[in-house]
Amino acid sequence: MPSSNRRTFLHQAISGGAAFALAPNLSFLAKPKEKLGVALVGLGYYSTDLLAPALELTQHCYLAGVVSGSREKAESWQRKYKFPERNIYNYENFDQIANNPDIDVVYVVLPNTLHREYVVRAAKAGKNVWCEKPMAPTVADCEAMIKACKDNKVQLMVGYRMQHEPNTQELIKIGREKTAGKIKLVTAAAGFVDGRTKPHWRQLHSMRGGSLFDMGVYCLNAARYATGEEPIAVTAQQFIHRPELYKGVDETMFFNLEFPSGALSNCSTSFFMNLNNLEVVAEKGSYQLSPFQSYTGVKGSTSWGKVLDAPIANQQAKQMDEDSLAILNKTAALVPGEEGLRDIRVVEAIFKSAEKGKRVVIQ
Ligand code: NAD
Repeated sequence: MPSSNRRTFLHQAISGGAAFALAPNLSFLAKPKEKLGVALVGLGYYSTDLLAPALELTQHCYLAGVVSGSREKAESWQRKYKFPERNIYNYENFDQIANNPDIDVVYVVLPNTLHREYVVRAAKAGKNVWCEKPMAPTVADCEAMIKACKDNKVQLMVGYRMQHEPNTQELIKIGREKTAGKIKLVTAAAGFVDGRTKPHWRQLHSMRGGSLFDMGVYCLNAARYATGEEPIAVTAQQFIHRPELYKGVDETMFFNLEFPSGALSNCSTSFFMNLNNLEVVAEKGSYQLSPFQSYTGVKGSTSWGKVLDAPIANQQAKQMDEDSLAILNKTAALVPGEEGLRDIRVVEAIFKSAEKGKRVVIQ
């Protein structure tokens, strides 16, 4: 087609309203985006209280749309955050997001058993995907999610916000540079008193609730990032304090990890007690963060007098900006799907150990 005719055709197509349907095929004409449009899937606590406000602070992405089962809720979000009507989806018409050039990233913020379905559907729609922790209930789920994203040439990143947090990054650096020598023990504890008395998905096995999936992954992830190693064996024990609320899921889980170097990790997670500290004991000293997984105020110290209290304006904004830059610049993600998978491989071994009452070797 001669270029003038091609231009006329494009003009007619666009003014004729066909632009929406044609847009993916015209991407070669588009200027590279400076800011990515994010659609939040699931407008519960974390999306409402943390992610949407953070998306007002981000430099490289913005809240472009939502996916919700409640039309009323979606409309109130639309009024508040001022995105166009066409960027509202429900769980049934979600796949049509494939035709929407406003949305570059789908952020899955649903109960844990729904992560796989929505990550796979988002990938098939050609969208980059951010998935909340825990990545999914099983290794098979995580592998399917990674494959779907690879097959559709989109990026998959897991919402492990602590890995973007500067004091956590300093703790990781101390370990990598062996500032305190070889690591001997990582103690991590993450939990809160769950005051809910009415059934919630976090208390249900069918939605893969329980303390390990919800809070224990912070400890596990910390044990792995502090040592820089993958555990080779685990011994675990679970407890139920309120059997009327926790049926078939752990209310408290204790687990000990063994690493190839000989380092050990002692982890505690619970919905029955407030726990929030991380300590590393190494040959020549120790260092700690307390709190280590709060949204604000992560701080700590080392036995050689270093204070870990670098400021951060907003954890979720930093995470989403860094993940956006990785997509825009086509660079490696800090926390790719494979990182979520590594944790879930250990989570499966922890449950096996707790169930059998035995040490389990991790394959
Ligand atoms: P929530 O219960 O407050 O919200 C879940 C949302 O999913 C609700 O809007 C609900 O309507 C919707 N939903 C859709 N289908 C559902 C179904 N079948 N059953 C129940 N709800 C359904 O949960 P949340 O606290 O926002 O957690 C969502 C995800 O975010 C979880 O995976 C959680 O682990 C993660 N999260 C991460 C952090 C973090 O710091 N990274 C913090 C909180 C939650």
